[in-house]
Amino acid sequence: MSATTEPSVKLLGVVALIACGRREGKTRSCPSCERKALALLNIARAGVPDALAAAICGDNRGACRDCRAKAETIIDEVDTLINVGPRLRGGPSSH
Ligand SMILES: [Zn+2]
Ligand SMILES: [Zn+2]
Repeated sequence: MSATTEPSVKLLGVVALIACGRREGKTRSCPSCERKALALLNIARAGVPDALAAAICGDNRGACRDCRAKAETIIDEVDTLINVGPRLRGGPSSH
């Protein structure tokens, strides 16, 4: 098995963009959110929405509602992207 620990650039881009505030017409996050993306992705993979929201908000005590929503979106999308990846690559193996 060759499990890659390196997150894909695409995945990081998605995480950064959501954390930055994804909206119509916006295709890139700001440099500051880009730099945070790897840390956010690691938290998202661990599946801890509270910690993720706090990291996005930049407050260790408690995130605002906005950042909580972002955290949930990120975990959701990361989950989807990670799950879809290997399935597409490996193809349907019928035992
Ligand atoms: Zn930003
Ligand atoms: Zn916030």
